[in-house]
Amino acid sequence: MAQDPFWLGDERIEPGTRRQLEVPVAKLYTHTPLHIPVEVVHGRQPGPVLLICGAIHGDELNGVEIVRRLLKLPVLSRLRGTLIAVPVVNIFGFVQQSRYLPDRRDLNRCFPGSEGGSLGSRIAALLREEMVDRATHIIDLHTGAIHRTNLPQIRSQLRKNPETQAMAEAFGVPVILNAELREGSLREYAQSRGVPVLTYEAGEALRFDEWAIAPGVRGIRRVMRLIGMLPAEGRRRSPPAAEVANGSSWARAPIDGILRPRVRLGARVAKNEILGVVADPFGNDEAPVVANADGIVIGMSNLPLVNEGEALFHVARYQEIDDVESALESFQSRYETPGNFADRT
Ligand SMILES: [Zn+2]
Repeated sequence: MAQDPFWLGDERIEPGTRRQLEVPVAKLYTHTPLHIPVEVVHGRQPGPVLLICGAIHGDELNGVEIVRRLLKLPVLSRLRGTLIAVPVVNIFGFVQQSRYLPDRRDLNRCFPGSEGGSLGSRIAALLREEMVDRATHIIDLHTGAIHRTNLPQIRSQLRKNPETQAMAEAFGVPVILNAELREGSLREYAQSRGVPVLTYEAGEALRFDEWAIAPGVRGIRRVMRLIGMLPAEGRRRSPPAAEVANGSSWARAPIDGILRPRVRLGARVAKNEILGVVADPFGNDEAPVVANADGIVIGMSNLPLVNEGEALFHVARYQEIDDVESALESFQSRYETPGNFADRT
């Protein structure tokens, strides 16, 4: 049985078709209208409604490329249900190469928003009404902040919803963090409505990281197969089961200075191991940055210039760290993660 047409604003999308739409969002001071580009792929058969969002933080580009590649997949002609793909949510920040909106607000702290509120609040309200409230499943794509890079990781509140946990595991990246909700985030809002939502965090702002993009596309395909939107493919081997981290913490700069990292992203480290050394330009007053627990480096700063107290290495702790290490090895044999920064001097 074919499903009903899908409406987005005044646009009607027939079953078995796909449309690129421009959702009007605001006007610039100059009277120039701005739109959020959206593609809706509306399958012939009814099924889940999956919302995929990129660049809610306007400088986080890997998700934009993930959405582009996803939309090129020929298998989408066999889609069940509806895919709502938004490559660039924060178009203002994207144009400015900035995480924020023009009023310096963070769009991912503006949910649920309101129609009479500030710009961020209005965009959040528009997204909520037109897309988020209609989605049965959501994947929100992010990267590390500027000058920070993340090993591909899923962040979610796993214990609240068994379907969320199944989606996180199906995504197939080696790191899953049971992350607290940020007030006003898309994830917090969606979860308050009981919608399973994953945040995929991978790579660095203002960069394209192939080792973050390719597993992102694969991960979304796996989730779409899991929830019945794409046909199952029996031949594919599933990724090694990911371990959920017990927690994570940042190792911070002990002094102001210039950082020489000694570990790379994905490294297994031991408590009190030296992760990097901070010194002034002459190499006087050297101070080590040490790991505060055994774990895996899942995020790090790429900028050598640091102030005392700055978060430099994000270390996740695990019960079964050997299993995580072998899952990472298999991941890294498939995707080339950044090279070894080892400091021998
Ligand atoms: Zn982000």
